[in-house]
Amino acid sequence: MSTQLRVDWPECKARGLCHEVLPDLVELDPWGYPIVRGPVTDDLLADAREAVRTCPRAALRLVEGR
Ligand code: SF4
Repeated sequence: MSTQLRVDWPECKARGLCHEVLPDLVELDPWGYPIVRGPVTDDLLADAREAVRTCPRAALRLVEGR
């Protein structure tokens, strides 16, 4: 089990703030939509929570999963 960062695609408006908050885990595609590069490791958990909190569309959440 690991922590994953999930994107609610219909809500995401490609503003890219999650990449600014979490550049080690989130890249942006050419249209500005996030690409999450793997699970949230312990060292990234605080920043991942910050990304969830600050997403202007509330389109991010942390889930426990594989
Ligand atoms: S901060 Fe939220 S709305 Fe902006 S790109 Fe990331 S997930 Fe989408």
